[in-house]
Amino acid sequence: MYVSEISFECFADTTISEAEHAINYLLEAWRQNGQVLGREFAVALKDGVFKVRLLLPEENSLANRFNSPWAKQALDELKHAKLLHPREKLIGLDINSETSNSEMSSWQLLYTSYVHMCSPLRSGDTLQPIPLYRVPATFNGDHKQVIRWQTEWQACDEIQMASASAAEFAAVNELANHQSDLFRRGWDLRGRIEYLTKIPTYYYLYRIGGSSKQAEMDRCCPRCGNPDWRQPEPLLDLFLFQCHNCRIVSNLSWDFQ
Ligand SMILES: [Zn+2]
Repeated sequence: MYVSEISFECFADTTISEAEHAINYLLEAWRQNGQVLGREFAVALKDGVFKVRLLLPEENSLANRFNSPWAKQALDELKHAKLLHPREKLIGLDINSETSNSEMSSWQLLYTSYVHMCSPLRSGDTLQPIPLYRVPATFNGDHKQVIRWQTEWQACDEIQMASASAAEFAAVNELANHQSDLFRRGWDLRGRIEYLTKIPTYYYLYRIGGSSKQAEMDRCCPRCGNPDWRQPEPLLDLFLFQCHNCRIVSNLSWDFQ
């Protein structure tokens, strides 16, 4: 992932609130399309120029061909706030983050965790994140439903990692139960992505708990009861189970690893 600095210059008198509104509207459009990562953006004003540092999946994530209809509209509306088209300066590679996938994948999966800022769509061959804007829009012109699903998955993950409150049970249920609302929405999204990309796309079902290691090794697919979904070795060192019928991957219970 890359760090880039975007500058917005005023071409006539504007108010700070008008400019801020127009800039934030654009940043939100980019974020909801996976072109910009993270959730909070500090916008600084110096000598009549607004500057913001962004984390991008690729060097060219903000290229016009990747823009959603919303982002194009937001770019167009900058002029109403008397701002010029933004200028971009690449700062460099983010040393803390993962490289985006650039090869065609034989399969892919929806997988995230509370520490991951990158795209929740991953290559099944390498686990590298696949920038969302490289996939046709999932709903209504961009990927806001995928971003929203990811945000909620991460929130549940953070609660269960902190594991100190009554909310833990509810959070784990959302992550690990194939009948939860979070599962249903994520699983529908992976189906949509599979339909759009024609690449088999799986959903990661989190697993924790269980009575014994053997019982966990022998568990069946929770959705269809398939007993033959265990793999000889964990795929990508993480997923011991894969049900092709249900398009689900899962781990050996974290309690027995
Ligand atoms: Zn199944």
